[in-house]
Order: sequence, then structure tokens, then C-alpha cells
Amino acid sequence: MEISMSLPLDHDGFVRRECPHCISQFKWHHGPANEEAEEQPPPTAYYCPLCGQPAGLDSWWTQEQIDYTRGAIAPAAARMVEDELKNAFKGARSKYVKVSVKGGMESPGVPSPLTEPDDMVIVTSPCHSYEPVKVPEDTSGPYHCLVCGQAFAI
Ligand SMILES: [Zn+2]
Ligand SMILES: [Zn+2]
Repeated sequence: MEISMSLPLDHDGFVRRECPHCISQFKWHHGPANEEAEEQPPPTAYYCPLCGQPAGLDSWWTQEQIDYTRGAIAPAAARMVEDELKNAFKGARSKYVKVSVKGGMESPGVPSPLTEPDDMVIVTSPCHSYEPVKVPEDTSGPYHCLVCGQAFAI
């Protein structure tokens, strides 16, 4: 089963992320931010700009994104189960046995798409300036480089 999901980006091309360690939200740039970024090998982990802890690339979902994904997958999953059920009963039909699948399963509604406000401020680390992040306006640093975790002050 394949379900395509797209996360909303803000007007600067940043996507909202949530640190699995400190549960703070920040944003990173979706895709390479410039030519220098394109030449870099894909990272295996990113460092939280706020607490400096590393985590794998798929560990940064925000609660809203998780909820949305669950909501978006549920109707498709329900449809799939229903189809499977109908197929299973098809073979069981004979002169003596009559099986019918009536109605459809209750399909939960698809949630409305996420939106991404243009909040937070862009900061770039001196060591890996090709990988900018956005941090909440009410934080003051020091921040950590997304790529290597090095602390830096603004
Ligand atoms: Zn963190
Ligand atoms: Zn760095």
C-alpha cells in the first residue's frame, strides 16, 4: 500500500520539525538550499539546533504531522481491508454456501491538509552554512549546527 504524503513548506521552503529529545520545534530547509548543499553526501543523522542531540532522518515528525499521517492513512487502510474481505468471500461462494458482504466499512474522513505559517527566524551555522535552519523567535541560542552539532552563537 502506497500513500503519498506531502508536508507543507513555508514561503522560504522550510518544513517544520520536532526534536525527539527536547520536543522543541524548529524548521529545516526542504531539499538542498543551494548548489553547495547539492554536492554534499546525504547525512545519516541531523543534530537538533536547540539541544544539539543527534537523531536519524525520520525521527523529526511533529505531533501534528503524525496525527495528520494517521488520519490520511486510515481511510485507505479501511478500503484495503474491505477489498480483501470481498475477495476472500468470492472463492467461498458455492451452491450450498452463500456469503455476502454488505455495506461498506465506516470510513473516517480525510483530515484537512496541514498548513505552514511563516514563523521563526533563519540561522546559519558558520561550519555548515549551506544548511540553514529556522528557530523559534523566543530562543536566544547558542544553537547547534544541523549537520555536525557544533554549537554557535548568533
Ligand atoms: Zn532538541
Ligand atoms: Zn556544522
